[in-house]
Amino acid sequence: MPVARPIMSACCLCGRVRFGAQWLAVPDRVARRLELSHGFCPACLPRAMEKAMDSFPRGLPLTRQAAPVVA
Ligand SMILES: [Zn+2]
Repeated sequence: MPVARPIMSACCLCGRVRFGAQWLAVPDRVARRLELSHGFCPACLPRAMEKAMDSFPRGLPLTRQAAPVVA
């Protein structure tokens, strides 16, 4: 019977895996055996946010406009 493995968080930029409050580099052969959900570690998050913001056109207000109401 297969044993359910816990899903762990991994950073999709640096590849570190979250163990509690720590993000640690793990060898590939270990990472391949883990059930991973990808996100960003605290060290990479600012860089990821900067990159994401760069993909928006400059000068647009960062507010959501109300969608037109269709009757
Ligand atoms: Zn990272």
